[in-house]
Amino acid sequence: MAFTDKTVRLAWKRAGNGGGLAHCQSCQKQVKWANRGRARTDGWEADHMVPRFMGGPDQVWNCRILCWECHRKVTGQQAAVRAVVRRSVQARPSRAVVRMRKPKVPTLPRFVVDPVKLRKLRKLR
Ligand SMILES: [Zn+2]
Repeated sequence: MAFTDKTVRLAWKRAGNGGGLAHCQSCQKQVKWANRGRARTDGWEADHMVPRFMGGPDQVWNCRILCWECHRKVTGQQAAVRAVVRRSVQARPSRAVVRMRKPKVPTLPRFVVDPVKLRKLRKLR
């Protein structure tokens, strides 16, 4: 799912400076309505503040206007978080299962024969 045009327009209005211009809601740089999705200084993207993979909805409160550079940074960070989440969800349970199947047995201290003590024991007998 993605934001509807209506939602993006509302978010734009909130960040708007008038005359087809708005500011990035992260770095305050000015962006231009006509340059949505363009990788240039006044290019911008509608960003999910709570990312979609975390259940963030396509609603106005969750929509912010970010300049192209900030959007790239944010989505990069989110991708890193998503990778960590995926790893912890998928890898950890299987590792836990392995640990449960093979419980670690504490190693017993090695029996060292002390020749002096052994001689004494023999004499006692
Ligand atoms: Zn920015």
